[in-house]
Amino acid sequence: MIIMKADATPTQIKNVIREVEKHGLRTDVSRGDFRTIIGLIGDERKVSFERLAMLPGVKEARMIETPYKLISKEYAKAAGEKTERIVKVGDIEIGGDEVVFIAGPCAIESKKQLFTIAEGVKKAGAQILRGGIFKPRTSVHSFQGLGGGGEDDAREALSWLREAGDKFGMPVITEIRGETQVDLVAEYVDIIQIGARNMYDQDLLVSVAKKHKPILYKRHFGAGIEEFLSFTEYMVAEDNKDIILCERGILPLGKGKSYTRYTLDLAAVPVIQKETYLPVIVDPSHAAGRRDLVFSLSCAGVAAGAVGLIVESHNNPAEALVDSQQQITPAELKELITACKKIRRAIGDRHNGG
Ligand code: PEP
Ligand code: MN
Repeated sequence: MIIMKADATPTQIKNVIREVEKHGLRTDVSRGDFRTIIGLIGDERKVSFERLAMLPGVKEARMIETPYKLISKEYAKAAGEKTERIVKVGDIEIGGDEVVFIAGPCAIESKKQLFTIAEGVKKAGAQILRGGIFKPRTSVHSFQGLGGGGEDDAREALSWLREAGDKFGMPVITEIRGETQVDLVAEYVDIIQIGARNMYDQDLLVSVAKKHKPILYKRHFGAGIEEFLSFTEYMVAEDNKDIILCERGILPLGKGKSYTRYTLDLAAVPVIQKETYLPVIVDPSHAAGRRDLVFSLSCAGVAAGAVGLIVESHNNPAEALVDSQQQITPAELKELITACKKIRRAIGDRHNGG
């Protein structure tokens, strides 16, 4: 990391970047209000920090020890930026004073279904609308989401999502399953979701990041925290820092009857918030896999410091084409939101581990 002097000129900054690039590294330039920070992307051992420190306009040049430096609190601090980033989506602030609730069906099934649910979740207090179009499914025999029907069907479903969001005043989010869907989805949504199964897809991360839209990035169910954060840097290295991290449960232990679909790793929430400046939310629905546990896990997630929740909600959960066992009704969502807001008030500033 190179910290430039407050009065460093654009030419001096350019020179430093050129010097770094000469050694085969890339840079992440963070222009704060008071000074510019240049982060190094690549093998830092190839450059001499002593030499960089002597270049005109440089205040300090040093290595950051953490493996995921570009998203570390230390990096934000050096840039004079806040150590808790707020991701803005319209007038909604993820990581701001209020807990943000993202809700909607696991999968969009029809225009009518989507609009009914959108109205319901809006009334319940959700601020952002979710709806799956390209569903990652274990079996090829299962409903793949309307996107499975081809590009025309996907476009139609995306236009409903956009229309529902505009009608009810909610930004919208949907998951992208592969690189071929990036351009299409980015045309319609406010936040692009990268699902747990794709956490490790570097090429997908890079192409989504290049759209410069906020990204909801889910932890893979088998990924350690360090891996999750390291892969996050692939997006930040494309100059996109509007990333919302999501804990959605890791593989459960034990044989025989399983009680939950995954195990919600609650400690990951404050741990990640201590390590990085990015906001962390919780997905209680996929973690639980059971409707009757969604309320408890939501409360626990907010108590652990999550700045938001993504909750699957359906007007008729029993009939849902995907994940029927874990979706809750808008009425249940309302109770959950009321309780979570109270919890957030009770913990106050402690939500960010402060
Ligand atoms: C989803 O949110 O629709 C989803 C499939 O979640 P995950 O990637 O966490 O399994
Ligand atoms: Mn689902």
